[in-house]
Amino acid sequence: MGQIHILKGDITTAKVDAIVNAANSRMLGGGGVDGAIHRAAGPKLLAECQKVAQVNCVRCPTGEARITTAGNLHANYVIHTVGPIYNVDKAPREHLKNAYENSFKLALEHDCKSIAFPAISCGVYMYPHQEACEIALSIALEYVNRLDIYFYLFDEPLFDVYEKTYQQLVGQ
Ligand code: ADP
Repeated sequence: MGQIHILKGDITTAKVDAIVNAANSRMLGGGGVDGAIHRAAGPKLLAECQKVAQVNCVRCPTGEARITTAGNLHANYVIHTVGPIYNVDKAPREHLKNAYENSFKLALEHDCKSIAFPAISCGVYMYPHQEACEIALSIALEYVNRLDIYFYLFDEPLFDVYEKTYQQLVGQ
């Protein structure tokens, strides 16, 4: 039985089996948390991403996830998932759910016992924070019996949203 941990801070410091990256569909690094993960992991991570077959032919579709090793991060794997761009995506809710679920599935397929998530789509992809948080936490509650789950929130307001929503969901 795992636990859900809600933390304020930088996901690149996480010591877990898998760190989830809010990637873009090209999976070749970018801004925000994606850039931070690639900077902390070093060039090995980009090389690993380039090796993922899908990168060379098809982009990673929204809601799907890909796994690589983790370069210099304190993790075995990075799971790269593509969240929806809120104002462009036709089914943002479903795609955000898929991004979380596919990340959990990949982690379990690789025997991970712990996983760290950023707030997928809550930055430049502009997903409304409350709804994104409800999706993230309700899916986490479905998987918490199988692994430890860490949410790293980079700023205070989003951290507060996660803490309050978690308390509401678990009825505290
Ligand atoms: P997206 O394109 O999916 O919206 P962003 O990287 O723009 O992804 O933002 C996702 C969330 O990650 C935002 O809440 C942002 O503040 C946060 N973030 C940025 N850098 C880090 C970091 N080093 N660790 C954890 N969260 C981060």
